[in-house]
Amino acid sequence: MRPTARASERQLLRTAAIVVAAGSGDRLGAGRPKAFVALAGRPMVAWSLAAIATAGVPRAIVAVPPGHGAAAEEALAAAAAGFPLGFTLVEGGTTRSESVRNALAAAGDVDAVAVHDAARPLASPELFGATLAALDHADAAIAAARVTDTIKEAGPDGVVVRTHERSRLWAIQTPQAFRAAVLRRALDVADDVLAQATDDAWLVERAGGSVRIVESAPANFKVTTPADLAVAEQMLA
Ligand code: C5P
Repeated sequence: MRPTARASERQLLRTAAIVVAAGSGDRLGAGRPKAFVALAGRPMVAWSLAAIATAGVPRAIVAVPPGHGAAAEEALAAAAAGFPLGFTLVEGGTTRSESVRNALAAAGDVDAVAVHDAARPLASPELFGATLAALDHADAAIAAARVTDTIKEAGPDGVVVRTHERSRLWAIQTPQAFRAAVLRRALDVADDVLAQATDDAWLVERAGGSVRIVESAPANFKVTTPADLAVAEQMLA
């Protein structure tokens, strides 16, 4: 599914966005949490919050690094004004999924949530709308880009054991939209299972839920290294 479908205004009223911004960002080496690094004149996470507000999602919960609440509140005061039904900061956990769980606990009575990495500042409002709209047909709808490289699987000895069929492969991104009750159940697992999750949709898959792809562009990349930051800066300037 391409990001053309849009969530209705009625759907959006019962929706919250969760932005996970509690990672340390050690690989960026900026000396502060990655989500709060300056990017084209704003803290990185503010770009995602602006896209979410433009998509019409009326409430947002941001998971921030423990001990960083006051600084985050100050840094995000302007972004907070875009959310008429609430803007909440919560402490993140030791893993990404724990941060999502903490934020979901503060989301209140909503039908749908869009979970997004603060480290993907280039996600468009249309992509948020399209993942939320796709919840009409699935428990979860996740942004993903087609894989253009050939993907091979190798053993620990470096010997190739398999070549995967590229037309069926997707590189998974965020936003990932969920029916709220499904995500709550999926996150209600032991901490060691949570720690294995590199995305939230996997938790829904393992619980037997339906997960649908919403096609996105490779441009919605995750800022990890200083080189990524420089590219994002150019794209947003
Ligand atoms: O570390 P990585 O880049 O995969 O993190 C993806 C996103 O998850 C980032 O936006 C990061 O801030 C967030 N995160 C979090 N809590 C953690 C670890 C990562 O909110 N404990």
